[in-house]
Amino acid sequence: MTRSEELRERLTTVRERVARAARAADRAPDDVVLVVVTKFFPASDVRLLADLGVRDVGENRHQEAEAKAGDCADLGLRWHFVGGLQSNKAAAVAAYADAVHSVDRVKLVRGLDRGAQERGRPLDCLVQVSLDPPGSGEGRQGAGADEVAAVADAVAAAEGLRLRGLMAVAPLGEDPARAFDRLAATAAALRSDHPAATWLSAGMSGDLEQAVTAGATHVRVGSAVLGPRPANQ
Ligand SMILES: *Cc1c(COP(=O)(O)O)cnc(C)c1O
Repeated sequence: MTRSEELRERLTTVRERVARAARAADRAPDDVVLVVVTKFFPASDVRLLADLGVRDVGENRHQEAEAKAGDCADLGLRWHFVGGLQSNKAAAVAAYADAVHSVDRVKLVRGLDRGAQERGRPLDCLVQVSLDPPGSGEGRQGAGADEVAAVADAVAAAEGLRLRGLMAVAPLGEDPARAFDRLAATAAALRSDHPAATWLSAGMSGDLEQAVTAGATHVRVGSAVLGPRPANQ
């Protein structure tokens, strides 16, 4: 099997999973955007995916994302930045990303806004919410429930940014359906202040069905399409 055939087969399976979960939740399969997370895989794979009809790709490390977006600039893809972000890199990410899913603190807003304004087009932003139990501290990624409103307000107030909604990763060791229910409640609360913030980015290779059930509008799928990531990361 060629790499293209392999990607086609996995992509078909993932698209079917998304469509089945959407129909089971009385939603249109087209309601859910499949973002294929291509981190650790080469630009040649991104090109094959584009040939197979993928329009949205995700990356989680700035250097790799910047290089790949440059290599694939001719493909007209939408680049989603989904990884942890340093504030001194925020403006640079805004130079190639079409959407940033991982805005988890107010401190990132200035740089993202500056980068977006320099580029001359609005940048779609999602606030990343932590679904870890309160007090889990250290390795937590995402704003705590009590911080979401402040981050969202800062994004909404920035001229170059568009507040689109929320993103989260289900914590290990908990039923993802329960975690995504909490996320859906946070998303509903956000929409009462920001009615246009309708995107919900949730669900990965292992839990996309539960995410679609909970209302995800964007699933971020890596290994189920590309295969296992190289072990050395
Ligand atoms: C890598 C990554 C994904 C995709 O993970 P898979 O389990 O390979 O589907 C989704 N979201 C984020 C934030 C990631 O870093």
